[in-house]
Amino acid sequence: MYRIALTGGIASGKSTVADFFARRGVPVIDSDRLAREVVAANTPGLAAVRARFGADVIDQDGTLDRRALRARVFADPSARRDLESILHPLIRQAMAEESARRPGPYQLFAIPLLVESGRAAEFDRVLVVDCPEALQIRRVMARDGSDEAGARAVLAAQASRRERLAVADDVIENAADLASLETEVAALHERYLAAAARQASRVAGAPPATAE
Ligand code: ATP
Repeated sequence: MYRIALTGGIASGKSTVADFFARRGVPVIDSDRLAREVVAANTPGLAAVRARFGADVIDQDGTLDRRALRARVFADPSARRDLESILHPLIRQAMAEESARRPGPYQLFAIPLLVESGRAAEFDRVLVVDCPEALQIRRVMARDGSDEAGARAVLAAQASRRERLAVADDVIENAADLASLETEVAALHERYLAAAARQASRVAGAPPATAE
């Protein structure tokens, strides 16, 4: 299976890009969605979080109190490491299971923290959605109602634009309107279909249709 990782900074346009691919029939395996599912109510993941962090991080309705958990790990690196060592294997397993269930022409793995988690090498290609920081800040402020200092603090906590671009095979410049963005996705989709077909024919032992 030909596997593309999709990443980008906050409010760069990852979800919008992922939706454009999904509309073209590409399975999108979303690490943020799976990160929520593995600690949904009554899951072994939530039980493991509770065993480590106690009942204080569980709401009365039995769901995870994300705010309380964030507060616990915010300034405590060892608590953060413990949480990651609970969540990461569960998320990886959930991604592998979903990948097996949803073959498609190729697969798109939406992983906002791809660079931070050092997973770029696991994929055939890395697609980075990029836009100027000033635009990211404007989008965060418009969407989340945060002020500029808050938006800048979120950006500063993530991998830098340069670190992300260093692992990119393809870059989508998302600095224009949504129609231009969709046109860029359509062009990449054609390239990925062709690359997936070439990979499939190599695996089947046939000579590739065209040189790389
Ligand atoms: P996050 O990291 O917070 O999950 P994201 O990278 O998935 O964000 P989106 O949610 O796709 O980003 O986009 C952020 C906001 O910017 C959304 O409100 C989206 O509609 C808007 N947006 C994205 N791209 C464009 C564009 N080219 N033109 C106008 N608005 C855009």
